[in-house]
Amino acid sequence: MKYLLLLLLSFQACASEKKSGPVNPLPALNEIITVETQPGFVRWVSFAIEPGQETAELWCKDQQLKHAPLGQGRRFAYIAETYFSDLKPYTCRLILKNKTEIPIVNFLVKPFKYKEEKLKVDFRTVRLSKKDLKRAQKEQRMLAGLYTQSASEPYFNRAFVAPLDSFITSIYGNRRVYNNAHKSQHLGTDYRAAVGVPIPAVNRGRVLFAGDLFYTGGTVIIDHGMDIFTVYGHLSEVKTQAGQIVNQGDIVALSGHTGRSSGPHLHWGVKIHGHYVNGYSLIEETKKQFP
Ligand SMILES: [Zn+2]
Repeated sequence: MKYLLLLLLSFQACASEKKSGPVNPLPALNEIITVETQPGFVRWVSFAIEPGQETAELWCKDQQLKHAPLGQGRRFAYIAETYFSDLKPYTCRLILKNKTEIPIVNFLVKPFKYKEEKLKVDFRTVRLSKKDLKRAQKEQRMLAGLYTQSASEPYFNRAFVAPLDSFITSIYGNRRVYNNAHKSQHLGTDYRAAVGVPIPAVNRGRVLFAGDLFYTGGTVIIDHGMDIFTVYGHLSEVKTQAGQIVNQGDIVALSGHTGRSSGPHLHWGVKIHGHYVNGYSLIEETKKQFP
């Protein structure tokens, strides 16, 4: 409840910003902007560049991130803050061919207190058999390879939307303690959905994976470009295939309770350059790019 209130407050803060000024005051050339972020959130930033600097590398912490044209000599990027953030401020910078570094955005990371939920489960579901462990690890390696194949420019040209508007049974970021011992985090959003509910793509993209996985069962992963991916899990039926271009609203699957699932629901994950973030922060930030 407290979390929901915080979430609402943070979105209200966004809304009041919109009223008081332009949705996104675009920074001038050589202007360093300061942006507040939170663990598990993504921020849209835009910046000006000089002609010929389109190929400059964008570096945030120790990661090189993709950036794409916004028109009129400007570029944009979506910058995710890991759930496991050390909360230290940092500066993203462009590195030119001649190694000159141009700082473009300072990030301030506000702490965010995620809720803890205690769950009692059959120990076999937290301690994997050798065979299951081997399968899960093999799939992790396969997915890690796929996640390096994102398109350098976005497939989408409108804001992201939520996959369902049904009741959310588990919000992003809950810290889970199983049987008072095993700990993990829920880095996605769970929606109430009976078996067989049509699941739409939340934005345009290219299907990266469509098949069965140990943890998430029937799974569809869509690459939206720029290392932005959405994941749909525990599906009863996959209705697309890898390589297919899908538009926002296209039905890619039917909901279910396959994989490690306690009951029928949709698990929706948003992964941005390696970090699972709150999908609602992506929805809000893409509204800044596409008001
Ligand atoms: Zn989930």
